[in-house]
Amino acid sequence: MKRILVVGGGTGGTIVANNLAHRLHEKLVKGEIEITVVDSSSLHVYQPAYLLIPFGIMHRNEAIRPERDLLAETIKFRQERVNKIDVNNRLVKTDSSSLQYDFLVLATGAQPDYSQVPGLEKGGYDFYTLENAYKLREAIGKFEGGRLVVAVTGIPFKCPTAPMEFAFLADSYYSKLGVRDKIELDYLYPLPRPFTIPNVAEQVQKLMDDRKIKTDLLFNVESVNPEKKEITSIEGETIKYDLAVLTPPHTGSEVVRVSGLTDKGGWIPTDRYTLHVKGYDDVYAIGDATDLPVSKAGSAADFQAAVVSTNIWDNINGFPPSLRYDGRVMCFIITAIGEATILLFDYEHPPSPPPPNFACYWYKLVYNRMYWTVTAKGLLPGFGV
Ligand SMILES: Cc1cc2nc3c(=O)[nH]c(=O)nc-3n(C[C@H](O)[C@H](O)[C@H](O)COP(=O)(O)OP(=O)(O)OC[C@H]3O[C@@H](n4cnc5c(N)ncnc54)[C@H](O)[C@@H]3O)c2cc1C
Repeated sequence: MKRILVVGGGTGGTIVANNLAHRLHEKLVKGEIEITVVDSSSLHVYQPAYLLIPFGIMHRNEAIRPERDLLAETIKFRQERVNKIDVNNRLVKTDSSSLQYDFLVLATGAQPDYSQVPGLEKGGYDFYTLENAYKLREAIGKFEGGRLVVAVTGIPFKCPTAPMEFAFLADSYYSKLGVRDKIELDYLYPLPRPFTIPNVAEQVQKLMDDRKIKTDLLFNVESVNPEKKEITSIEGETIKYDLAVLTPPHTGSEVVRVSGLTDKGGWIPTDRYTLHVKGYDDVYAIGDATDLPVSKAGSAADFQAAVVSTNIWDNINGFPPSLRYDGRVMCFIITAIGEATILLFDYEHPPSPPPPNFACYWYKLVYNRMYWTVTAKGLLPGFGV
């Protein structure tokens, strides 16, 4: 019997497991294959909802499902924390068990690391956990005027478009309430342009100028002073705020670090085409946990899941691997309530986004529902998140 073990039942891990369960159904039923997903949480969260919750566009019950209900019945689910991954002995240890594997898929994601910036956690709000998204919703609702600062405090972080989308949504939200002129909106970003990809950054800068969102670029946050309500940069600038929405730096899961599977930044060195953990043909890494030079985005995890599940299927059936990851990512940028554009790009082709429009916004809202019935079910991997 061949054992496929997936560590992390978030977006990437769930898609790989479900897609393989569809393709290998007969073998699973006959007991020739076993697929196990291990996650410390029993709940699967659709994280893009965190950005929309503060503006009342999505709600808690649209963001969470029990992981067991999402997985095919033929998949074993263990709600256990993984403590050690021993790739030389094909062994994964959890709080309560030792699991052997023939194929291992690491999809342990990324998480905020507030400890990297002094004062960060107390100094402001963020939308990187469900709880924090709701706290931010309250703060946004109570904010009556003054300086609202949206800042990125470390790169890389999950969903590179999210902070600027937050700024656009705040502009739109307060404009609809008729109080926009009481609010000064500042966007602080560590690079000399407001987004990583140059041609997109140009369009974003223009939109921000049009919407009177002030950009403070090359602002690398050194510390936040919650008492004085000030943010100081390594470059020596200090900015005062009345309300701060701060994107924290991110790091990989502790288990991959303590298992010696990461680089200095906490990311797993991963072959950019095969998605093998470098040096191990039986171990794959996908999604936010990797060091791949692409966005930490659910769509990237989805495209990568398609490659990994196909190549594991090929291996089990005696075929050579038939897919390579080409760096594909698909991201929406919400530019206002009721307006969005879309980025589609890969290692070789930069994005060429259309002008913001209602159709893209509508598609994003529809997609938020389709995530549960199509994407997470592994029915159409490679379709994007
Ligand atoms: C505000 C926000 C908005 C976003 N918007 C978008 C968007 O519009 N489009 C888009 O494509 N992406 C978006 N993303 C990013 C997207 O959610 C992530 O890129 C995606 O979830 C990554 O999938 P993953 O499988 O790599 O990690 P995750 O989905 O985070 O899953 C990782 C899993 O690993 C588990 N785990 C970690 N360590 C252990 C351990 N030791 N033992 C057991 N289990 C463990 C965790 O519990 C978790 O379930 C957004 C993210 C945020 C925060």
